[in-house]
Amino acid sequence: MTLLGPVAPVPSRKGRGSHVRYYLDANASEPLRPQAYEAVPEALRATGNPSSVHREGRAARRILEDARETVATRFGALPERVVFTSGATEANAFALHALRGGRRLIVGATEHDLIRAHAPDAAVLAVDRRGVVELDVLEFMLDEGPALVALMLANNETGTLQPVAEAAALCRRHGGILHVDTVQAAGRLPVDLGVLGAHSLALSSHKLGGPLGAGALLLTADAPAERPLIAGGGQERGWRGGTPALPAIAGFAAAAEALGDADRLAPMRDAIEEAAVREGAIVCGAGVARLANTTCLALPGVRADAQVIALDLDGIAVSAGAACSSGKVTASHVLTAMGLGMLAGQAIRVSLPWNAEADCVEAFADAYARMAARLRPALAGAAVDA
Ligand code: PLP
Repeated sequence: MTLLGPVAPVPSRKGRGSHVRYYLDANASEPLRPQAYEAVPEALRATGNPSSVHREGRAARRILEDARETVATRFGALPERVVFTSGATEANAFALHALRGGRRLIVGATEHDLIRAHAPDAAVLAVDRRGVVELDVLEFMLDEGPALVALMLANNETGTLQPVAEAAALCRRHGGILHVDTVQAAGRLPVDLGVLGAHSLALSSHKLGGPLGAGALLLTADAPAERPLIAGGGQERGWRGGTPALPAIAGFAAAAEALGDADRLAPMRDAIEEAAVREGAIVCGAGVARLANTTCLALPGVRADAQVIALDLDGIAVSAGAACSSGKVTASHVLTAMGLGMLAGQAIRVSLPWNAEADCVEAFADAYARMAARLRPALAGAAVDA
């Protein structure tokens, strides 16, 4: 009996005629890559626990260690310093937990909520109007004593890139430790722990075209990791107890191996920005190095959630602010940190998936023009709650 039928990759566009939908929310979750589609059922068929010593256990262990080797090679780490987790929320929490020691914590003002939630006592490193951290301020903060610094390589809302390699050099010069959340950059830019010079980096499978439920923390040989995240059965070299999610990890590694770069998406992203600007939008974080697939578009006077709903009803899936908080109607802390005031509650994120096709530009432009025409007059003069 075949339990798993044939599988097919998810297209970036779905449906026919007026029911066509365009998925432009890749920073929330990328569509699965075909290589991951193949690796997941293969791993599901493996019977056995990777910790067992019998033949079935050893076969499962091989899948796990092959995946570790692939992820290590792809992202410039040693296999024995790759710790698989359930995702990047866990990998980032693990880094803050394991690397903290007695150090002070410094986090970028536009870090993901999960970093901010784990670091209520952290000193916040401000960003400029384009969303880039100020390195001379970081150097000043590092002068005050040993610190663990958490910075993201690419911002999930604006795509803005941080000068991570420069920050890593500063940290090393001042005896600090740098942890980098590379979740949104991996798969869109080359990401290599050694080249970045940081001490650790966090990855998420579903943000690079693998399945949900896997991620990893990669540590350099000199990262002073002290405490396991979960004590338990000694899995992951004692760093994280619990039987690893083999199918998700196998899919994660297959997707990681298949990554290209996202440069081909930049012309589509630029055309989407031009179309939105024609309707009165402002591009948040324009003018700095950004991810090729991401744009953050503020439409003055129109609440972000109203824009998202209108576009959704018109066949376009985008989000307001961070994916993890898209159910909330609050101003984006990222845009607020960039000094955008009311606009922080009026911006949507458009993030093109790895398999986006050129026709999404026209579809977006038409839907955006209809949305702007409908919502702007309706809200003109009304109090807009940012
Ligand atoms: N880091 C960044 C920059 C993200 O955008 C997200 C998710 O939105 C995460 C971490 C969390 O990743 P995961 O869903 O794997 O927990």
